[in-house]
Amino acid sequence: VEETLVLVKPDGVARNLTGEILRRIEAKGYQLVDIRLVEADLELLSQHYAEHQGKPFYEPLIEFMQSGPIVAIRVAGERVIEGFRSLAGTTDPTTAAPGTIRGDLGRDWGLKVQQNLVHGSDSPESAARELALWFG
Ligand code: ATP
Repeated sequence: VEETLVLVKPDGVARNLTGEILRRIEAKGYQLVDIRLVEADLELLSQHYAEHQGKPFYEPLIEFMQSGPIVAIRVAGERVIEGFRSLAGTTDPTTAAPGTIRGDLGRDWGLKVQQNLVHGSDSPESAARELALWFG
């Protein structure tokens, strides 16, 4: 069965939305396989976001992801990678579709980084790489 890495980013944890996000994943029918609360360090984050190095939002993104605990979740189900990305909605929470996690619960806070509550792996290759990083 396919697996993906979901992160509840520091804004989601700080706003006490972890339960609501888990509820949506479970209600969709996916299975929670493993879960942990992580204070991510620079080493982990620079590997996780290696593809974004050099982009203008990279530094603010790394700083934001170190601003508080993250909940990392291993989620399983048929086509869960695309299914969770559909649940999450598009990157910008201001315009993400209502009904999605970002569209219902997120907004722009006037910061240099989009605080958009969640991350989900975008391909089987990313999922394997990211699950190894966050769950060893
Ligand atoms: P999606 O792939 O659906 O866009 P994502 O989380 O995978 O979502 P990425 O493009 O991989 O988005 O970017 C990683 C993260 O960096 C985003 O989730 C967001 O927090 C931040 N980010 C991306 N693009 C911007 C941007 N133009 N300005 C500010 N922050 C950004």
